[in-house]
Amino acid sequence: MEEIVEISCPEKPAAVSGPSARPRAASRLPQGRIRRGHDRSQMLRRGFQLGFLLLNVYLGGVFYLWVRQLEGMRPGSLVRPAGVEGWLPIAGLMNFKYWLATGRIPTVHPAAMFLLIAFLATAFLFRKAFCGWLCPIGTFSEYLWRAGRKLIGRNFHLPHWPDVFLRGLKYLLLGFFAWVISSMSSWAIEEFMHSPYGIIADVKMLNFFRHLGEMGLVVLVILAVASLFIQNFWCRYLCPYGALLGLVAMLSPARIRRNDEACIDCAKCTKVCPSALPVHQLITVKSAECTGCLECVAVCPAPNALEMSLPPWRARRPARLPAWAWAVGIAALFFGIVGYAKATGHWNGAVPRAVYVELIPQADQARHPMPGY
Ligand code: SF4
Ligand code: SF4
Repeated sequence: MEEIVEISCPEKPAAVSGPSARPRAASRLPQGRIRRGHDRSQMLRRGFQLGFLLLNVYLGGVFYLWVRQLEGMRPGSLVRPAGVEGWLPIAGLMNFKYWLATGRIPTVHPAAMFLLIAFLATAFLFRKAFCGWLCPIGTFSEYLWRAGRKLIGRNFHLPHWPDVFLRGLKYLLLGFFAWVISSMSSWAIEEFMHSPYGIIADVKMLNFFRHLGEMGLVVLVILAVASLFIQNFWCRYLCPYGALLGLVAMLSPARIRRNDEACIDCAKCTKVCPSALPVHQLITVKSAECTGCLECVAVCPAPNALEMSLPPWRARRPARLPAWAWAVGIAALFFGIVGYAKATGHWNGAVPRAVYVELIPQADQARHPMPGY
């Protein structure tokens, strides 16, 4: 199916460098009308986002009921959903290092490691698509800035230098966690993971939100309000997980590529980019901030001007990655790695139920085994 998009052919923005004398693609078309294929990428992406948000709500709900069941020390049929370990990225990193160093799959929070591997692999093959397609916090942030835009008619960008400074914060946080984990031996990681604190780290996180103090509430409200006005405030400035995935994504061969010959310099791609990237001024988008959301491709009115693609290899053009292939690839990687962990019996940890029965009612007493952290 094709749609006709009416466009006016604007003047080339002053900031764009390059030849301006050559005829632009749109001027060669009659009456300023351009033909382009119907784009379903955003429908697909929003479906993924909603699906993963609902999956996380379901996992969180079952986990909460499971914890309540053990707090009451009542017999029950609920089983701990290992998928909640996606919310333990630091445990995932520690276990990943442990696995690399020892070759042994950890027995406490192994799902955290498999999910981290799935998201790292996604970042390498599909850029930071975890943030733009899967992460429930990213989805919630997007709902907030869209609501803010509806409310006041626009979102805001911080001035250049405050923006650069704040973007550095997530790398500082990542650097801190990387330093702590890299300084731990495999033995120290194993000891940490098998301590009461390590075993019920997920329960402690749940309890943090269940018994949110005044300060925690104030921080959450500030983040939510900031997210109404500034697109993806948490992801852009503070999320160390996103920072890690962004660094891996820079190695990805898949990139948004702009064909300068076909481009009509309308700058719609730049305007719509939630990561505030100057897409219409670039030939390839290499930035760690690109989430592979394909919004820029979806709005581009010029045929073949903007595509997510692999670099050219023995071919005249880069290999285009259509939205359906992008979506299928993300899903296949995620479910493939989770499925592998389940099929090989590594998805669920080896902590006996009796240990949880003993630890969960006294979760508040479990102290971090490494003083100072
Ligand atoms: S460059 Fe395109 S794919 Fe990347 S974040 Fe911006 S809109 Fe999304
Ligand atoms: S790539 Fe597409 S959306 Fe971006 S400036 Fe060129 S024609 Fe416009």
